[in-house]
Amino acid sequence: MTILDRATAAYLGLAIGDALGATVEFMSPREIREHYGVHRKICGGGWLRLKPGQVTDDTTMSLALGGAILAQGKVDAQAAAQAFDAWMRAKPVDIGNTVRRNLLYFRKTGNPEAPYSDHDAGNGAAMRVLPVALATFGLPDEAVRAACRAQAHVTHNSRLSDAACECLVFMVQDALRGASKNELLHKHAHPLAAQHSEFRFRAVRQCENPSGFVADTLRAVFQGFFDTDSFEDCLVDVVNRGGDADTTGAIAGMLAGALYGADAIPEAWLNTLDVSTKSSCEEQAKDLLHQCIRPAAL
Ligand code: MN
Ligand code: MN
Repeated sequence: MTILDRATAAYLGLAIGDALGATVEFMSPREIREHYGVHRKICGGGWLRLKPGQVTDDTTMSLALGGAILAQGKVDAQAAAQAFDAWMRAKPVDIGNTVRRNLLYFRKTGNPEAPYSDHDAGNGAAMRVLPVALATFGLPDEAVRAACRAQAHVTHNSRLSDAACECLVFMVQDALRGASKNELLHKHAHPLAAQHSEFRFRAVRQCENPSGFVADTLRAVFQGFFDTDSFEDCLVDVVNRGGDADTTGAIAGMLAGALYGADAIPEAWLNTLDVSTKSSCEEQAKDLLHQCIRPAAL
């Protein structure tokens, strides 16, 4: 499996997890069972009344960021802030409170770095890290971390959001290199939980109804990702926990795509994904990787 194959699957996985999870966002596992049995079909609806295969802010903010990175040839805070601001002006189907507040701060001040706040520990920066992981693939760790913070701090300038974003980016990059699930567990997920106890996902009960708090989100994602063995099982496990299901779905889909590759994505899901979203994800995966690796290496 090539790096490009895994990168493309990560981007498609992000969009598919978003589209699958959005149907049951803000429902409890019990409500999901009553309505859907096991939710496993990309059927739209939900509180946003989506078309089947339509995605939400998790995917569209990632694409906005990816576009800005490609236009600049690097991860640049000012360009990212402008891209997110333009995205907000275009009236997206959904937008998080912290994202809106800090983009309004950018509009007013021109400063692409939100003020530091421990309260801004939502998952809004972590859900859109993929373009950074692709654009900085192969760079030294410190450069990767700086790029992580530049994009994240436009809307989320907080310790726990930073820890989550950096962990996810390094996990995706190692998955692209062909690391096993067990390696990702021991090299990234356990160390994150050891450093910040909020992220502990073992020896605690199953995380159901995960909130938008980034630690709650990652605990649900990690439990679903590490306790299953296929792309499909991972996403079904994660979204049926309900809560912020489009975002847990998006992050889990990104990780599972990078780990299992494009052939592991069910045809029915790929065929239902909105056509222009699908081609944007495929194009950005290729272009962002090409920006940092010689095409021959792919
Ligand atoms: Mn969303
Ligand atoms: Mn969400």
